[in-house]
Amino acid sequence: MTDTKSIPNSPSDQTEHKVKFEDFGLSPDILRALTEQGYVHPTPIQAEAIPVVLQGRDVMGAAQTGTGKTAGFSLPIIQRLLAHASTSASPARHPVRALILTPTRELADQVAENVKAYSRFTPLRSTVVFGGMDMAPQVAMLRSGVEIVIATPGRLLDHVQQKTINLSQTQILVMDEADRMLDMGFLPDLQRIINLLPKQRQNLMFSATFSPEIKKLAASFLNDPQTIEVARSNATSDNVTQILYKVAEDEKRDAVSFIIRERGLKQVIVFSNTKIGASRLAVHLVKQGVKASAIHGDKSQNERMVALEDFKRGEVEVLVATDVAARGLDISEMPCVINYDLPYNAEDYVHRIGRTGRAGAKGDAISLYTDQDERLLVDIEKLIKQKIVRLTLAGFVPATHQVERSRPVRDKSERTERTDRSEKPARGYQPPREKVDPWFLKPYEPAVSSSLKTGTSAKTSESAAAKPQKRAALLGGIPKV
Ligand code: AMP
Repeated sequence: MTDTKSIPNSPSDQTEHKVKFEDFGLSPDILRALTEQGYVHPTPIQAEAIPVVLQGRDVMGAAQTGTGKTAGFSLPIIQRLLAHASTSASPARHPVRALILTPTRELADQVAENVKAYSRFTPLRSTVVFGGMDMAPQVAMLRSGVEIVIATPGRLLDHVQQKTINLSQTQILVMDEADRMLDMGFLPDLQRIINLLPKQRQNLMFSATFSPEIKKLAASFLNDPQTIEVARSNATSDNVTQILYKVAEDEKRDAVSFIIRERGLKQVIVFSNTKIGASRLAVHLVKQGVKASAIHGDKSQNERMVALEDFKRGEVEVLVATDVAARGLDISEMPCVINYDLPYNAEDYVHRIGRTGRAGAKGDAISLYTDQDERLLVDIEKLIKQKIVRLTLAGFVPATHQVERSRPVRDKSERTERTDRSEKPARGYQPPREKVDPWFLKPYEPAVSSSLKTGTSAKTSESAAAKPQKRAALLGGIPKV
């Protein structure tokens, strides 16, 4: 690695950068598209990357999500390709000249949307190819001729195998979120793809984190790259307030719904370490009346797209996601992310909290942790080189305690008896599955019943606690007394 350019840490100070997009000598067609996007000033990574990419140099970008890196590489690529732009309808006049590889379908889709928006007033064509979708429409697009292809590695190789794509004129290769591509085991695919490209080309690699493996990959295919950093490697954005709440493992789901309610969150991503955990949490939240949906690798591409679209439209307020599924989601102005589980890999923590505090906005990153998570926490704090504030979740009463106050029982004698909140629930007790009836949320009102006065209730209560199934049966439908 040779030159290193390091620029301010925070992506928020865009206005302090007096540079304007016009200063880069971008075509009026690109500038018009940027005006339509509402971009006024380049973000720090854009200010640094655009001139370097325009010169045709290789770049190694240490860029977190939310820094504006997509436009940082797309705009100069579009500008460079304009020299070859053709208005001819002939596919031969539109060979693949730039290839952008991303780890996930969602990121590919988002990058493709950006590229389309930035190039919309130019004759350049672009398309996206990723797995989980019918190949036929992708083949049709590729056959019609496109200069910019955004792809996930596996599906790209499928097209190569079927000879539906020709990469022999590719002049520019971008590896976006290269660290994640390696984490996902794409290294052999990446090597195969690199071998298919002309030797003479420009290479751009972006990564939020820089492990020895990433450096090795960079050394193997970048040619005298300029390194551009917008934040210290593995640093977290200053715009994100990080908070930790300690809870017991079995209180985590209720803690998440409590936080969502307390903060009135309307757009939040909750991270789970497992697919099953994500599904279960989403189901739990829905039962609590929260508009939630899960997004993970077991969901079909269509289900993931629908969930994402619903989330963007606000019809889904909480997206429970695994790391892989959440990678590359670009949802502007997300005020908060929640770590339902602390990630096993400390670097994932950086990626996750990068979902909030994007493009200069402020955000909160809330993490739940248990006694067992101390070691993960130490790793995270070591990586980000800072201590995270530990707070108590004020006002949170876990359902395991609350249940004694609000358990929906019709039997008055039992209600009056269950006032001791410290009392443990009966073994095997599961919180009610039904959506909570507001009646059950009313504050506790001791009923003056004759059974209480006569002292018969203690026994009644004890036996009731010992027979949770019976209580469930009561819940199910014994008519009001
Ligand atoms: P990225 O890091 O490329 O995913 O971009 C993060 C977000 O910042 C996206 O929503 C972009 O649309 C937005 N963005 C990128 N560049 C700018 C800019 N110069 N001004 C304002 N917003 C931007």
